[in-house]
Amino acid sequence: MEREVRVRFAPSPTGPLHIGGVRTALYNYLFARRHGGKMILRIEDTDSQRFVPGAEEYINEALEWLGIGIDEGVREGGEYGPYKQSERRDIYRRYVKQLIDAGKAYYAFDTPGELEAKRAQVANFQYDASTRGGMRNSLAMPEQEVKALLDAGTPYVVRFLIEPGRDVVVDDLIRGKVVIKSDILDDKVLYKSADDLPTYHLANIVDDHLMLVSHVIRGEEWLPSAPLHVLLYEAFGWTDTMPSFVHLPLLLKPDGKGKLSKRDGDRLGFPVFPLEWRDPKSGNISSGYRESGYLPEAVVNFLALLGWNPGDDTEVMSMEELISKFSFEHCSKSGAKFAFEKGKWFNHTYLQAISDADLAELFKPVLLANGVNPADFSDDYISRAVGMVKSRINFVSELWGHARFFFVEPEAYEAKAVKKRWTAETPAIMAELIEVLKGLDDFSSKAAEPVVLGWIAENGYHLGNVMNAFRLAVVGECKGPHMFDISELIGCDATVARIAKAIERIRISE
Ligand code: GLU
Repeated sequence: MEREVRVRFAPSPTGPLHIGGVRTALYNYLFARRHGGKMILRIEDTDSQRFVPGAEEYINEALEWLGIGIDEGVREGGEYGPYKQSERRDIYRRYVKQLIDAGKAYYAFDTPGELEAKRAQVANFQYDASTRGGMRNSLAMPEQEVKALLDAGTPYVVRFLIEPGRDVVVDDLIRGKVVIKSDILDDKVLYKSADDLPTYHLANIVDDHLMLVSHVIRGEEWLPSAPLHVLLYEAFGWTDTMPSFVHLPLLLKPDGKGKLSKRDGDRLGFPVFPLEWRDPKSGNISSGYRESGYLPEAVVNFLALLGWNPGDDTEVMSMEELISKFSFEHCSKSGAKFAFEKGKWFNHTYLQAISDADLAELFKPVLLANGVNPADFSDDYISRAVGMVKSRINFVSELWGHARFFFVEPEAYEAKAVKKRWTAETPAIMAELIEVLKGLDDFSSKAAEPVVLGWIAENGYHLGNVMNAFRLAVVGECKGPHMFDISELIGCDATVARIAKAIERIRISE
């Protein structure tokens, strides 16, 4: 029988979720939805030293913003909780004991100092079959002594007994069969009595087993721990329900080789976190996609294609389309360059698909931030203004630079254009233009354009100079959408007033 698809995203709350982690969460989500399965969010907080306040809330908020839905988790609940590892100590204790009782794990009393000394003394020291006999552990010491140490409450760790000479096979759905010799693995610490907590390895596989995880989908950096996890599944006798492994390709620097890092973002100017993050210790702020003006749909689409493709060259896909097309067959083994410029392109593309009315709503806070009260303008006015310039922007914030003249009169006039287009005759011609405009019954673009162009032609005026002077007066510079569309929206009175002001101002400045 086919197993129910159950996947988990298992972040450690050690800081803001990195964009690579977001991609991992996304691929888990797409796969779960594609197969009608469940997505679990498990918080792996067994390393109290690295715990960062606010990180868990950040993870929830980021996933929510991106529309990555969770079926079971700390907030959502579920039948297999608790979903936070620090609340599962009793469970781990039981499983650690089970391994010890079965002779598959053992107590080790070596102090950090002793281990340090060993490493200094033996090059490439590894705690394994070849060395454990000479260390202080329950395999090398008399039973009585072990018991005495335990009774006395001596701190210990529990180590996993790795048998040498085995080929460990990790069946990875992207990489195929990865075979590793057990000799290269060390007797990993599974539990530390000092803080009564398991290490990542034990907690991770016990939880995957108990939560009936069918596919472990995670970043490539976890590939080296996969053989150990396979051996742990064996040691517990759970091989029948061992999950399939999927190790996603690395995210690489946009410009060259090597893993994407926060520094690349700082250097090249793009966020590596989904949301802005304020470090609770240093107070340092790291930029986020949300605060930088990205739409969540654009970020999702961009990330989905970093390591996967739909089998053809389709690029723009909604979450639903991604779900319907997602499979590991089209995931690549090799790293994916973090082409952040492409991310901007996706944002541009998604902004074009938004209705002018919705875009206007997104633009209102930007207006406010620039000292314009959106309530002074009708929704229809703001919509039409953004509709005229949206093809030029990658981010909502950029609307201001392209549309400000719809909301405030020009205070200055582009010097280069003045020099080129505002000649000695211009004031008189502009005064005539005012009369032509005032005489129009219909100020719409369609009606105004032929009348104004006809007047220019009749008088033998220079079309480029007149139209650019007109634009300069209304916009302040010689760019922007179609001139008569602008004047239609601004209206006759405001257009005329701006021309009059320019006649006065530009003359004064000469
Ligand atoms: N807690 C690990 C992390 O932070 C989970 C790795 C895994 O998915 O097994 O990435």
